[in-house]
Amino acid sequence: MELKITCIPGDGIGPEIVAEAKKVLDAVAAKYGHVMRYTDILMGGASIDVHGVPLTEEAVETAKSADAVLMGSIGGDTTTSPWYKLPPNLRPEAGLLAIRKALNLFANLRPAVLYEELAGACPLKKEISAAGFDMMIMRELTGGLYFGERKTVEENGVRKAIDTLTYDENEIRRIAIKGFDIARKRRKKVTSVDKANVLDSSRLWRKVVEEVAKDYPDVALEHMLVDNCAMQLVKDPAQFDVILTENMFGDILSDEASMVTGSIGMLASASLNDTKFGLYEPSHGSAPDIAGKDIANPIATILSASMMLRYSFDLDQEADAIDNAVKSVLQAGFRTADIMSEGCQRVGCRQMGDLLTERI
Ligand code: NAD
Repeated sequence: MELKITCIPGDGIGPEIVAEAKKVLDAVAAKYGHVMRYTDILMGGASIDVHGVPLTEEAVETAKSADAVLMGSIGGDTTTSPWYKLPPNLRPEAGLLAIRKALNLFANLRPAVLYEELAGACPLKKEISAAGFDMMIMRELTGGLYFGERKTVEENGVRKAIDTLTYDENEIRRIAIKGFDIARKRRKKVTSVDKANVLDSSRLWRKVVEEVAKDYPDVALEHMLVDNCAMQLVKDPAQFDVILTENMFGDILSDEASMVTGSIGMLASASLNDTKFGLYEPSHGSAPDIAGKDIANPIATILSASMMLRYSFDLDQEADAIDNAVKSVLQAGFRTADIMSEGCQRVGCRQMGDLLTERI
């Protein structure tokens, strides 16, 4: 199979971690008989330095012509970098917002996995972390409170701010379908999270999710109120497979879930549109404090590449090969600095990429 992939190395550690991800993807291609066609584009600070803007039209067109986009991370030190003296619409992050919009990415996926070998980094009690967890938070990305009408007014000398939470059934249906499709590739359970005891938008969410569930009789569906979900994430995270939720709830819950893993350098993510197309990137930022030192952890980006194979190309076996290589490297005791613990062997970014490549 020929895979057309647009790469965005970006800023800070971005180019280092994307280089390692390409190395691992090349090993997958060699083993399973695929051809990877990469085209790099500039975004964020790297694009500002060359073109004066964080994302050009040509870069967007290149991304659109690919089957998927693999990104490192963008941005610099927000207090010292000259990029942050520019107006907000010309700063690095504006490039990310623009590409998400241009590619119509509405479903955000953030896996939170606790690896047995890294359980020590988990801030939860041992009896909870011992069970491990492996969940996927699916967050709607383009609707809800963050995109509704908003205004601040003054009434009789009192300032008043209004935000509007709106969802129509089509917006809910398309993310629910994605959620059930993804659950089918996992442990076949969807927990739909809402606040249906209070919000009309949540009551519609619940109805539409139930309608979609009828087409997926093999997937178990449960509903959970968002406040309960926030508690369950720290009380019994092992119960979750796919958590399906709207924009603001997902924003908060996905950060909570990633923090309970305790390992920022391990967390992948993806944003999908209504085709197989997706943008895959680590959850962390560009870590300018460690850029260029060959100490960054490339695993989050490599696991993002694995998600790309699984969700954009349906290459589950190849994605499993990457996920198993990560487990095997951790079991063998190799660690980058951010996940280092006593008795393990510390390796750099490049060596971690080599160790994973060897195991494909
Ligand atoms: P960050 O995630 O870049 O770094 C936070 C801390 O985690 C730092 O100490 C860093 O060294 C460490 N870290 C992050 N990734 C690591 C890795 N792979 N290996 C080892 N250590 C790692 O967050 P920040 O410092 O708040 O932001 C830095 C820049 O990144 C900012 O410009 C911010 O806007 C940008 N950012 C970009 C994205 C993105 O591209 N999607 C996301 C978040 C932040």
